[in-house]
Amino acid sequence: MPLHGDSILAVGTVAFDTIRTPFGVRERVVGGAGTYAGWAASRISGSVGLVSVIGEDFPQSELEQMQAAGMDLSGVELRQGEKSFFWSGAYHMDLNTRDTLATELNVLADFKPVVPEKWRNAKWLLLGNIDPVLQLSVLDQMEERPQLTVLDTMNYWMESAMDGLLAVISRVDVVSINDDEARQLSGQHSLVRAAKHILSMGPKYAIIKKGEHGALLFQNNANGALEFFYAPALPLEEVVDPTGAGDTFAGGFLGHIARCGTTDFDTLKQAVVVGSALASFTCEAFGAERIRTVSEEELLERVDTFRTLVDFTPIAAVAI
Ligand code: AMP
Repeated sequence: MPLHGDSILAVGTVAFDTIRTPFGVRERVVGGAGTYAGWAASRISGSVGLVSVIGEDFPQSELEQMQAAGMDLSGVELRQGEKSFFWSGAYHMDLNTRDTLATELNVLADFKPVVPEKWRNAKWLLLGNIDPVLQLSVLDQMEERPQLTVLDTMNYWMESAMDGLLAVISRVDVVSINDDEARQLSGQHSLVRAAKHILSMGPKYAIIKKGEHGALLFQNNANGALEFFYAPALPLEEVVDPTGAGDTFAGGFLGHIARCGTTDFDTLKQAVVVGSALASFTCEAFGAERIRTVSEEELLERVDTFRTLVDFTPIAAVAI
């Protein structure tokens, strides 16, 4: 069966997470960058092809739910006798910053991703958070350059695989990372300078996520001047678990672009808002519990709330 125009190919971890917040602990919930991105993208675009690897400990019922939501798992390798990727993190009191307590690569250690034949001409590619060498291998398997490739990554790979990361950054259209990571990657404290630095590495667009403080989108416009857009984050009454917010953002961002079929700056601005709105749902429950049930109506309502957050009557004059 041929791919639909809005089908997205995504690579990322499908994993177990143990999450500690100041208010509780959840052991071994289903998570992973690929899982969150897949759920988010499948909420709004046609089908999502996932490329990943799992061990025999991964629950069959989860796979069935992912398939029922429109995810094609033919690119997810199941390794008998091995354990799935495991990550554990502990959030600080602000729920915006966290420490990684454990990263067990398990099946990921010698994973060689294989993009299924039918996905090799996907127009929309999400290189979700995973070893940059694997992101590069997925890129190399594409028959032609996708219309838009989005890269997400994290500090772990900056510390352990910087060369591969720089190689993959030079070949993508959008880099999406959080503020600390942008500073680490660029060596710049100012986020504007960090974005300029990242754009000089090759991508056309840079997104810097600031957790509960929203996200910035940057591009160099036709005149070579830096242009940017800011989307706030929704102030939630209760943040239960922010794990996966960044991956949800990336999936929702590319999902919206795939659905629109256009990659101009205006569509990207909308996509930042859609990604941020979906990420706010992820924060409302542990794991992917909330994101998997978001309806179109709920999403549209939340997108509208985002608009009202920054909408005000223009000020004609001020007396100083
Ligand atoms: P986020 O909160 O958006 O940064 O995403 C957290 C998710 O990324 C968790 O579900 C983890 O399983 C996954 N994760 C954590 N560390 C890594 C890593 N080094 N490589 C790939 N995925 C990871």
